[in-house]
Amino acid sequence: MENRFVFKGLSSFLETFHDDNSCRKFLEYLLWEGKPICPYCEHRKKIYAFKNLKTFKCSDCKRNFTVTVGTIFHSSNIPIKKWFIAMYLLSSHKTGISSYQIAKHLEIAQPNAWYMLHKIRKVMAGSDQFKDMLQGIIEADETYVGGKNKNRHWDKKFKYSQGRSIVDKTPVFGILQRGGKVIVWTLDSLNGSNMRRLIRLNVEQGSIICTDEYKAYKGLNKYFEHGIIDHSRGRHKEGIYHTNNIEGFWNFIKREIMGTYRKVNKDYLNRYAREAAYRYNTRKLSDKDRFIGLLKESLCVKITRKHI
Ligand SMILES: [Zn+2]
Repeated sequence: MENRFVFKGLSSFLETFHDDNSCRKFLEYLLWEGKPICPYCEHRKKIYAFKNLKTFKCSDCKRNFTVTVGTIFHSSNIPIKKWFIAMYLLSSHKTGISSYQIAKHLEIAQPNAWYMLHKIRKVMAGSDQFKDMLQGIIEADETYVGGKNKNRHWDKKFKYSQGRSIVDKTPVFGILQRGGKVIVWTLDSLNGSNMRRLIRLNVEQGSIICTDEYKAYKGLNKYFEHGIIDHSRGRHKEGIYHTNNIEGFWNFIKREIMGTYRKVNKDYLNRYAREAAYRYNTRKLSDKDRFIGLLKESLCVKITRKHI
């Protein structure tokens, strides 16, 4: 990392990225290692720089471009500096940050802050953090999230009880590698064959799966060593077989969604769940490295208003 981009906490972060130009230079460093590449034709030999320090012209395809072409910052009316601050705050706050708070910090309108945060969340949801196969001891579990405040209930036992309304709640399914990463999905329903399929697609052969006695997990022993904890009989741990870590992670999501976001639209729940999972998966990184990782991923995805 070049000396001019060194920062530790929010204070030095704000000094390092004090204007649009310093942010652009950092993006140019991350994306091109300082040597511009045409985003349209990938030409890199003869690129002319304009005097404004941000626009370049490709000598091959003759098009003008800046470093933000093809990134989430492209054609945004919000200065990049504000995007950087939003990304830093969202990725470093343990339980997320609301669009109302971001709007106040950045002195922008709340709908704009909401839109920015959703763009960033979309980057988090599609992150490489969820692309590795899990291996070793894996805990699989499910819970219900969302709903109106008065109906909110985190007791997963209601999956066994008939007649209790889960109409406004969304099932979230997750697999967690002990000591490693977690992957979560929101589902339309707790469909056993879909849940088992997600496990098989995302867990290495030879791994050990720990679940509770819920029927959706039946049959996993054909593919994995399967340890079942019978919660209905008051058991929570049998040797290495338990689901304590993923249950802890559900509490983590609960703090984020109920504490910070309060009202979560069902259509966006997957993003909020993945936001929490993104933070969990990068928990061993410093705030700085987590921010840079997120920034790098945001350079590779094009997200427009229609994707939100
Ligand atoms: Zn070109």
